[in-house]
Amino acid sequence: MLRLPPFRYHRPTNVSEALALMSEHGDEAMYVAGGTDLVPNMKHRLFEPHHLIALKSIEELRGIQEIEGRDADDAILRIGAGETLTAVATNKKIQEFFPALAQAAAHVAGPQLRNSGTIGGNICLDTRCTYYNQTHFWREALGFCLKKDGDVCHVTRTGKKCVAAHSADTPPVLITLDATAMFVGPEGSRELPVEDLFVADGIRNTRRMREEILTEIRIPLASATRRQAYVKLRQRKSIDFPLLTVAVAADLDAKDTITGITGVVTGLGSRPKTLTKWSEVAEGRVLNEELIEELAERAHRQCHPLENMIVDPDWRRAMIPVFVQRALQQVAQD
Ligand SMILES: Cc1cc2nc3c(=O)[nH]c(=O)nc-3n(C[C@H](O)[C@H](O)[C@H](O)COP(=O)(O)OP(=O)(O)OC[C@H]3O[C@@H](n4cnc5c(N)ncnc54)[C@H](O)[C@@H]3O)c2cc1C
Repeated sequence: MLRLPPFRYHRPTNVSEALALMSEHGDEAMYVAGGTDLVPNMKHRLFEPHHLIALKSIEELRGIQEIEGRDADDAILRIGAGETLTAVATNKKIQEFFPALAQAAAHVAGPQLRNSGTIGGNICLDTRCTYYNQTHFWREALGFCLKKDGDVCHVTRTGKKCVAAHSADTPPVLITLDATAMFVGPEGSRELPVEDLFVADGIRNTRRMREEILTEIRIPLASATRRQAYVKLRQRKSIDFPLLTVAVAADLDAKDTITGITGVVTGLGSRPKTLTKWSEVAEGRVLNEELIEELAERAHRQCHPLENMIVDPDWRRAMIPVFVQRALQQVAQD
C-alpha cells in the first residue's frame, strides 16, 4: 500500500487567508483543490509538502456566470477555478456556448475524479512522464530522473531538458476560445491568456508563481459563435489521461467560408502546441475534405511525439492526422 507522507491540513475560507498561510509556510506548503492529482503524486513522493492549503472552502473560487462588459464584445463567461469538472461538463451555459469545453471536462478521468477534481487543478496540473509517475522505489531503481531527484532525462538521455508531457484536457480548448486565467498572489492580481500560461519546460510548465492562486477563468462570450471541436486519444474509453488531445475552433461566414481557425494539440510536449499557419492556408476557403486533409497533413509535419508515454511514439504520430481530421470533420458538420 502506498501511504501519504505526514502533513498539516489547513482550510482557509478566503483567498487572503490562503495567501497568508502560503507566505507563512513558504516552500513547505502547497495548495490543494480536489487533490485528484496531488494526492497520488504525494503517495509517489513526487511532492512532500508539510502543509496543504485546501482551496475547496473558498467561496470566491466558485460560480459560473455571465458577466457583462462595457460593450457587448467585452462580455465574458466567468468560471470559478474551484468549480468541479462535473459542474463544468454539465453546466447549461457552457454546454450551449462552449460545447467543446463541456466535452473536454467530461472526458477527464472518470466520474468520481470529475466530482472532486476542479478546472483550476486541471489548468495547474503537473506534467507527466513514464519515468516520473512511478513509485519512489521504481524511480530510485533507475537512478531517478531530471524532473525529480536525478540529473538525466531517460527520454532524451541527456541532462539538459525535461520533456514530461502536458496532459490536461481543458487547456487546449480554452486556448482556442481565447480564454484568460486570473491569478491572485502576494503582489496583487494579474490576468494571463491561457495560451501564454504554459512554457516548454517539463519540470515546471506554467508561469504561475508558486504562491499564486488561480481564481477564475474568463472566456469571451464572443467566442461562442465559433464552431468548436474536441477529440481525445487514450488507451481506454474512461479514466485514462490523454495520449493526444486536439481542440479546434473556427469562425465561418454566412457562406461557410473560414474567416479564422485555431488548432491546438496536447499530450505530446511540455506545453499545449498551437498548430501554425492554419489560418494562412484555410482563410477564404470552405472546410471541405481537401482542406481537412491539408490541415491534418500540416499538423502531422509539426508534431513529433517522444517516448514520454507508455505507447509507441510512432503510433502516436500516425494518430495525429487521424484525430485532427476527426476534429475538423466535427467542425465542418456542426
Ligand atoms: C486515474 C486518473 C486519471 C486522470 N485522468 C485525467 C485525464 O484524462 N485528463 C486530465 O486532464 N486529468 C486527469 N487526471 C488528473 C486530475 O484528476 C485532473 O486533472 C483534475 O482536474 C485535477 O484537479 P484537482 O482539483 O484534483 O487538482 P489537485 O490535485 O488538487 O491539484 C493539482 C495541482 O494544481 C495546483 N492547484 C489546484 N488548484 C489550484 C488553484 N486554484 N490555484 C493554484 N494552484 C492550484 C495544486 O497545488 C497541484 O499542484 C487524472 C487523475 C487520475 C488519478
